[in-house]
Amino acid sequence: MDHFLYRDGALFAEDVPISEIAAAVGTPFYVYSTATLLRHFKLFDDALEGTDHLVCYAMKAASNQAILKTLAQAGAGMDVVSGGEYMRAKAAGVPGARIVFSGVGKTADEIRTALTGGIRQFNVESEPEMQVINAVALELGKVAPITVRVNPDVDAKTHAKIATGKSENKFGIPISRAREVYALAASLPGLEVIGIDVHIGSQLTELEPFELAYNKVAELTERLRSEGHNIRRLDLGGGLGIPYTRSNDAPPLPVEYGAMIKKTLGHLGCEIEIEPGRLIAGNAGLMVSKVIYVKSGEDRDFLILDGAMNDLIRPAMYEAHHDIVAVEEPAVGVEQRPYDIVGPVCESGDTFAKQRNMPPLKSGDLIAFRSAGAYGAVMSSEYNTRPLIPEVLVNGDQFAVIRERPSFDEIINRDTIPEWL
Ligand SMILES: *Cc1c(COP(=O)(O)O)cnc(C)c1O
Repeated sequence: MDHFLYRDGALFAEDVPISEIAAAVGTPFYVYSTATLLRHFKLFDDALEGTDHLVCYAMKAASNQAILKTLAQAGAGMDVVSGGEYMRAKAAGVPGARIVFSGVGKTADEIRTALTGGIRQFNVESEPEMQVINAVALELGKVAPITVRVNPDVDAKTHAKIATGKSENKFGIPISRAREVYALAASLPGLEVIGIDVHIGSQLTELEPFELAYNKVAELTERLRSEGHNIRRLDLGGGLGIPYTRSNDAPPLPVEYGAMIKKTLGHLGCEIEIEPGRLIAGNAGLMVSKVIYVKSGEDRDFLILDGAMNDLIRPAMYEAHHDIVAVEEPAVGVEQRPYDIVGPVCESGDTFAKQRNMPPLKSGDLIAFRSAGAYGAVMSSEYNTRPLIPEVLVNGDQFAVIRERPSFDEIINRDTIPEWL
């Protein structure tokens, strides 16, 4: 459920007409709903009620500081995957004690930044990384809290580009070698082993792969405890999928996911951490775009938009489906017709949908891509010298621009010309 609904024939974000935002900021733009963000966070928080837990929002899904602040004020921690994300979370007011640092390639500088500013834990992905965290911690006279990310070798049954829990993926340490790696961690004086981490992929639409992985984590917890490690926190990653269409089977609900976590891991008495990104932000955001031209081809009609693959890359990169709706509600019974919906970038990959049934549309009409809140704005670029599009946050009947569209001067002046030219 989200808060983007038609009212009196027009699409709204909460209590604000989309067309009003478009008039104020121009198109294309992203718009997020505060109520939807908070609702999704609370679904997870409630699902783990009765268990000591922290929901760490995986901020790579949508990292605008206004979004981070909204969630942090509701009690969320953050999962970061770079030094830049760490600094962004801090800038949004998130205390270090609520920030978890994930990722396979943390550099010594990034580790130093986090250890200096305060960190809840590092999720360590390799032995070389473990050695570097130890060295930096000793240099700073600190002890770094860590978990080891284990790779449970389970098939997440999701798109290959976002599966992370199979042995062929670059992530984590094979669970079969975990005991040896924990023994190494325990021998390093700059580290304090506090738990285990696992994250098997994104957009999972079944609970079974999670359950397989979490059962392995339960077994490993007992094994490591018997070897003297004080395992007291389990970080279970993110990855719960969202419905991208209204027609297909809905993925499991957070409450079902939470119940499964309690069933598989509850007896261990560990603090539970989860890192959802997509489920919190995905359906809390739209990308709104305008039809520039309707072009009739030989055997099909094209809707050419002012939004493009650089603004929303998911269809080009993951063959992702987004529901696309007209901002002006189609009249009941109006005949739909198929369009290829494309952007203006000079690549055939700049295609959002092929032969998608839409109500008749004309130049100047607004359309909205649903489910665009996660991995949308954060993955955008200025390819073709197209400015990054603005982000807008709605809260009830108010809205605010939370990232402005840069001017062409700002973009162009970022280049510097060498003196020999
Ligand atoms: C990407 C990622 C997440 C979030 O995944 P979602 O599918 O957005 O929930 C959580 N943890 C780690 C380590 C990640 O890399």
